[in-house]
Amino acid sequence: MKEAELGGIEAGGTKFVCAIGRGPDDLRVREEFPTTAPAETLERAAAFFRRQGAVESIGIACFGPIDLQPGSPAYGFITSTPKEGWRNVDVVGAIRGGTGVAAIGFDTDVNGAALAEARWGAARGVDSFVYLTVGTGIGGGAMIEGRLLHGKMHPEMGHIRIPRDAAHDPFGGVCPWHGDCLEGLASGTAMRKRWGCRAEELPDGHPGWALERHYLALGLVSFICTLSPRRIVVGGGVAQRLDFERMREQVRLLLKGYLAEPDIVPPGLTRNAGVLGALALAEIARS
Ligand code: ZN
Repeated sequence: MKEAELGGIEAGGTKFVCAIGRGPDDLRVREEFPTTAPAETLERAAAFFRRQGAVESIGIACFGPIDLQPGSPAYGFITSTPKEGWRNVDVVGAIRGGTGVAAIGFDTDVNGAALAEARWGAARGVDSFVYLTVGTGIGGGAMIEGRLLHGKMHPEMGHIRIPRDAAHDPFGGVCPWHGDCLEGLASGTAMRKRWGCRAEELPDGHPGWALERHYLALGLVSFICTLSPRRIVVGGGVAQRLDFERMREQVRLLLKGYLAEPDIVPPGLTRNAGVLGALALAEIARS
């Protein structure tokens, strides 16, 4: 019997990626386009699947915050995003309505990425781990004892508060809600504002990288103490430039031997990670 097709949508704030396939070695059709107005963007995604023919289920790994509460009237919606025009948008409803596919898996982009790392990447065989992305923003997903962590909403790990010594670092952070939360201090957006150039352009050895490791290590220690992960996968554009050995050392210093530190590793999936997360969500949604 032919295995059913799975569909995935990486719904990002700047681009959407749609694909059909079953994993990293089986991504048959892939299309990406910029994120414009919600109705136009979601219809473009639905039209992609209508052209491909029958898919059994579709996974959506979505930027957020999103409503994941079963039974909530706003389940499947993007909620309080700062992204222009995208507040209170029914993503699941638009894709279900536009494709006729009933089985839709929906989760945060970072929980999707965590699932993909568990399925095919750097967290294979690890039942409790954190996936953190450090790029334009900072976000985290967690799998705890084999299940993605949701709770009341979903974790927003980028927005934890971080001790900042204003005498040493007067930069007040860029988060529109909190100023100097982790994302406010250590995201790519923060680095660009702080240093006047993109993180990618900051040379190795620049003091900006030591500060970046300092703040990320403080964040990681909070996740280690609260979630007890066996591993932390750190991905995203800024993280590609991190010296992981020095990051681990920094975390060890902060833990002071009170807890053993988990493995801190780069992702196993480098290409198509976002849409693979969506396909992993589709796989769960059909069962
Ligand atoms: Zn914040």
